[in-house]
Amino acid sequence: MAAYDLVIRGGTVYDGAGADGVRADVAITGDRVQAVGDIAGRGAVELDATGMAVTPGFIDVHAHDDIAVLLEPEMACKVMQGVTTDIVGNCGSGVVPFGEGMMRFSRMYPGLTLPSWDGYPGYLDRVDEIAPSCNVAVLMGQGTLRMGTAGLERRPATADELAQMLAWVQAGRDAGAVGLSTGLIYEPGRYTPTEEIVTLARELAGGHGLYASHMRNEAGGLLDAVREAIHVGETAGIPVQISHHKASGPEHWGRVRDSLLLIEQARARGVDVTADQYPYTAGSTSFYAVVQNGAFRKTAKAADEPQESGLGTVRAEDVLFASCPRRPEWEGQTLAALAEAWDLPPEDAAERILDVEGQAAFVVIFMMDEGDVRTVLRHPTTMIGSDGLIAGEKPHPRLYGCFPRVLGRYARDEGVIDLATAVHKMTGMPATKFQLRDRGVLRPGAFADIVVFDPTTIRDTATYEEPKRYPEGIRAVFVNGVAVARDGAHTGARAGRALRRGR
Ligand SMILES: [Zn+2]
Repeated sequence: MAAYDLVIRGGTVYDGAGADGVRADVAITGDRVQAVGDIAGRGAVELDATGMAVTPGFIDVHAHDDIAVLLEPEMACKVMQGVTTDIVGNCGSGVVPFGEGMMRFSRMYPGLTLPSWDGYPGYLDRVDEIAPSCNVAVLMGQGTLRMGTAGLERRPATADELAQMLAWVQAGRDAGAVGLSTGLIYEPGRYTPTEEIVTLARELAGGHGLYASHMRNEAGGLLDAVREAIHVGETAGIPVQISHHKASGPEHWGRVRDSLLLIEQARARGVDVTADQYPYTAGSTSFYAVVQNGAFRKTAKAADEPQESGLGTVRAEDVLFASCPRRPEWEGQTLAALAEAWDLPPEDAAERILDVEGQAAFVVIFMMDEGDVRTVLRHPTTMIGSDGLIAGEKPHPRLYGCFPRVLGRYARDEGVIDLATAVHKMTGMPATKFQLRDRGVLRPGAFADIVVFDPTTIRDTATYEEPKRYPEGIRAVFVNGVAVARDGAHTGARAGRALRRGR
């Protein structure tokens, strides 16, 4: 009789805590790792991992798949790259209250209808009912909470509105949400005064979650924006996560050295500040937000809006349409190309696109410096998050390639970081920060979220031209002890769960 359900034999095991790889077998029974080392007992299933790296499953700390995990529960774009846990609800964009959540996500899923849920407790239960292929943890999106009370009002929340938001946050906290997120370049997050965020964040003090922020400005105002994020965490007494750390726009490149210094200084004062990053020089967001933040804008800004673009200089040739639900033929074209075809200045072309698509168009924007990407990746406070958006035919390739790109291109090929560090940044480091208990590490007693890959061949194949391509070199992916991908194919298994903070 087999001693274990599964034994992964003879691979090089990386524990996720940052230690160098060691040759060892890994035994699994049920949803947990039973033993790591020289294992005599046989497994009902034996997987020969000779020459392979065996690591904890990757944790995507920066996801927007709140609805995707319900509608496309196999989550192939993520599990095929080794992601076993998706942390959704980033950038202030959440699914509570339900109606505003649906409004927000119907930009990615036109005509979206789902049975409703009641707050974050209801959402987490729904995830468990659906059982996606990967685990799901959730951040509470402040923008959607505010939308559900103050709408698009450009003023501080009233006492009643604040009380409602606090009630949602308290319920979500108690149900196991991992923190609160903001998106301060987006409506209505951008109208939120700092102290209002602090008030919500205080509900998480005492180890009940973190503050993750897509900051007000990632260009000329980057440093003030980092100071604001740190201020929120420091004042409220909760950890801080800077989302997709970068300096946007050529005139601001290099500034990440200063923002990293601010993070180091805060850490020296005892504030738990870290960041996440996707390993590309292009970002991706809604085209509406790009225009609203000052690029290709025809009308003057209102006096109560920030006058400096939060994105830095954006050129029409650097804006690539990823998703245009009403005019799919625009997908894969740049704003410059469309403007030229229509014989219009970029500002007029932008207006035409917004007239047709409203807030539904998403773009890829080339705006970062490769040197900055490496500087941020190398820094010990940076973990990995894809920021992938499932929308349209030409999504940003990070949706399919983020994690293998770090392991293949940046760790193996270019030596920016070593393999053990790269694995740590996508496993043990995020599990600790987001309080995902018994995840992100490969040791007896941990949940059997495991990736087996060939360190000599792993690589991303998704490109800006052909983004929907799975990576190479991933041999097997296990979620809670169940194989969800084997030899480059999804098994169809849906072994994921809702993860509740600390449980
Ligand atoms: Zn964001």
